[in-house]
Amino acid sequence: MQALIAAGRLHTVCQEARCPNLWECYARNTATFLILGDRCTRDCRFCAVGHGAPAPPDPGEPDRVARAAAEMGLAYVVLTSVTRDDLADGGAAHFAATIAAVRRRLPRARVEVLIPDFQGNPEALAAVIAAGPDVINHNIETVPRLYPRVRPQADYRRSLQLLARVAASGIPAKSGLMLGLGEDEEEVCTVLEDLRAAGCRILTLGQYLQPTPAHLPVVSWVTPEGFEAWRRRALALGFDEVAAAPLVRSSYHADECFQALER
Ligand code: SF4
Repeated sequence: MQALIAAGRLHTVCQEARCPNLWECYARNTATFLILGDRCTRDCRFCAVGHGAPAPPDPGEPDRVARAAAEMGLAYVVLTSVTRDDLADGGAAHFAATIAAVRRRLPRARVEVLIPDFQGNPEALAAVIAAGPDVINHNIETVPRLYPRVRPQADYRRSLQLLARVAASGIPAKSGLMLGLGEDEEEVCTVLEDLRAAGCRILTLGQYLQPTPAHLPVVSWVTPEGFEAWRRRALALGFDEVAAAPLVRSSYHADECFQALER
């Protein structure tokens, strides 16, 4: 997988974000493609992805991603990106072009996109929705009280509004939180209720892990039993599918979450 990704001059969030599940997913022949470069215009304090001035979008990337996905024989393709606040549409047109390229090469494959907030730009989101992905994921990441410390350039209400627009389009909306950054139980419950009220159907919950000493420290550890309790509470709130465990990440076993939703 690594050779194929390198040969395609591609990035995966698996590698860039130092995901602990990389070996398992690569061995399962799955990966989450990181489009629009590996330099993010934001600086979330939990994220290992590189920051700084990104290069212009590469017009050849959509087809390279589609070719790599076809070579991997993927039935479920996940696309994500860094946040490109330097672009008027936040990179939405590039997402749409990549979805279309994958659809051309793999007409039977399912496509999930994990998108940034496009700074709340409704036209940008509409362009991604119009490209017709099977699932649209946008992470809420943590509780609103922690936003200034954890993801200072993001906005909790803006993210909820984006998820509500996705749900209104009929495309399943998905979101996720990291636990262990200092949130309390009541705050997590409120976020789960807000996500449900926005129409979110799929949820991921995982343990925050500190990528480097320069990133935020882990404040608390949630046990596997604790995650199971959260999974049951979220299902009781009406989520169709919940993946909750210490090493669960946004796209971890994303195909299985979607199949469960279909069932
Ligand atoms: S916006 Fe996304 S890629 Fe950028 S720093 Fe935050 S989490 Fe990382």
